[in-house]
Amino acid sequence: MTTSPSIPTVKLLIGGEFVESTTEQWRDIVNPATQEVLARVPFATADEIDRAVANAKDAFRTWRKTPIGARSRVFLKYQQLIRENMKELAAILTAEQGKTLADAEGDVFRGLEVVEHAAGIGNLQLGELANNVASGVDTYTLLQPLGVCAGITPFNFPAMIPLWMFPMAIATGNTFVLKPSEQDPMVTMRLAELALEAGVPPGVLNVVHGGADAVNAICDHPDIKAVSFVGSTRVGTHVYNRASQAGKRVQCMMGAKNHAIVLPDAHKEQTLNNLAGAAFGAAGQRCMALSVVILVGEAQAWIPDLVAKAQTLKVNAGVEAGTDVGPLVSCAALDRVSGLIERGVQEGARLELDGRNPSVAGYENGNFVGPTLFSGVTPEMSIYREEIFGPVLCIMTAATLDDAIALINANPNGNGTALFTRSGAAARHFQEEIDVGQVGINVPIPVPVPMFSFTGSRASKLGDLGPYGKQVVQFYTQTKTITERWFDENEVGGPVNTTINLK
Ligand code: NAD
Repeated sequence: MTTSPSIPTVKLLIGGEFVESTTEQWRDIVNPATQEVLARVPFATADEIDRAVANAKDAFRTWRKTPIGARSRVFLKYQQLIRENMKELAAILTAEQGKTLADAEGDVFRGLEVVEHAAGIGNLQLGELANNVASGVDTYTLLQPLGVCAGITPFNFPAMIPLWMFPMAIATGNTFVLKPSEQDPMVTMRLAELALEAGVPPGVLNVVHGGADAVNAICDHPDIKAVSFVGSTRVGTHVYNRASQAGKRVQCMMGAKNHAIVLPDAHKEQTLNNLAGAAFGAAGQRCMALSVVILVGEAQAWIPDLVAKAQTLKVNAGVEAGTDVGPLVSCAALDRVSGLIERGVQEGARLELDGRNPSVAGYENGNFVGPTLFSGVTPEMSIYREEIFGPVLCIMTAATLDDAIALINANPNGNGTALFTRSGAAARHFQEEIDVGQVGINVPIPVPVPMFSFTGSRASKLGDLGPYGKQVVQFYTQTKTITERWFDENEVGGPVNTTINLK
């Protein structure tokens, strides 16, 4: 596809300049509520990706030696600029992604928290020192940046997830090449502009666009030292294998099937509110969205209340006041989610609430699906096995808490989970026995704040270290251990065997 002069084009960021791609391959960025084409994004050529990496490599020579206080101050300024531009960022995000304006601000805000954390790099990138490990000998560690690092991000958090990546990578002294989702890169580009305005020097942050070819070029590039990926399990597994084989450090945060367990002693009204918000908010397109609820014992009688709660949610465009559920990101996503709902019916689940084809006045062409609930779901059904990534909640039942825990632990994914109860003993048992990365107790979407790291179990994560928090400082640095001794000018002679000197 060639570009039409009337539609704006998304630029590449290479060496501190926002440049037009010379590619022949472009993709439309479409408003999911209206189908209006907002802009076109290029699929960068191999040469453009090489130039981005070469600029990052060149910039690393000086950035790695930039004082830690100077690096910190860039992010102090950056957090201020993001705050000042919050409304504009949220509006861009809603237009290209579809989530409500309030949710879009939340997306930016959760990324902003990581930027604030990056501003405290002086307290995070500290080595260790042991005094007198032998007579007159000290050992200490340096946490040194790796070089050029790269990030590949998904469509569902186009502000937060890029901000999980490049601020901490750059704050630790690395340079970066970012490949945002080709579905909604515009808010990411505005964040890149603000990063330059905050003082990120030319070449330290570069942005290229594209799909599989750009990702593969990043995985294979000999000058990229580490790759951070967030997205589906299918693509993440490919990225992990390909980039690891090329000798890189890799972290991949991937797909999910998040379960909540409801015990009969839970606070009913609060639980129903939390379930509805976590299952249907952001149209179910959160990696931490609740997609399965397991009602235990007498809580099984709550199905009609849950359906009634879901019916109160308002489906509309993200820009409209009072909207709870915005559109899905694309027509392809709409087809996929509608198809899975149909499969659920065919495979024998009971459709308690059908959200397909809602009427949304003024937005008749939008990719809308309203809250959808199935009961009688079993582990063999497609709606249970697949990550639907839409506003669809599967209701399952269990006789006991242990049965519910066993069901969750048997699912291949282990991203997020939650328990609703008033029992401290049940909550403690749950947190001990459950094999899932993010665990909430009466908290439906327990995404950790940036002093902790995001994590994941089993098929939801590959690589040892997670994004942001303390773990990411290790991810983006190489530990060097120095063992040091200084000779006193007055000391003469000494044993020849050096190992003796360490005693
Ligand atoms: P996706 O895997 O389709 O895309 C992610 C990135 O990979 C994009 O930048 C895309 O351009 C690239 N890509 C797509 N196909 C590729 C291919 N064949 N080869 C190489 N690269 C390719 O994911 P998405 O649909 O954008 O995002 C939704 C997924 O992300 C869901 O599975 C969700 O659970 C997951 N997610 C996980 C987390 C987490 O922290 N665990 C957070 C957000 C989203």
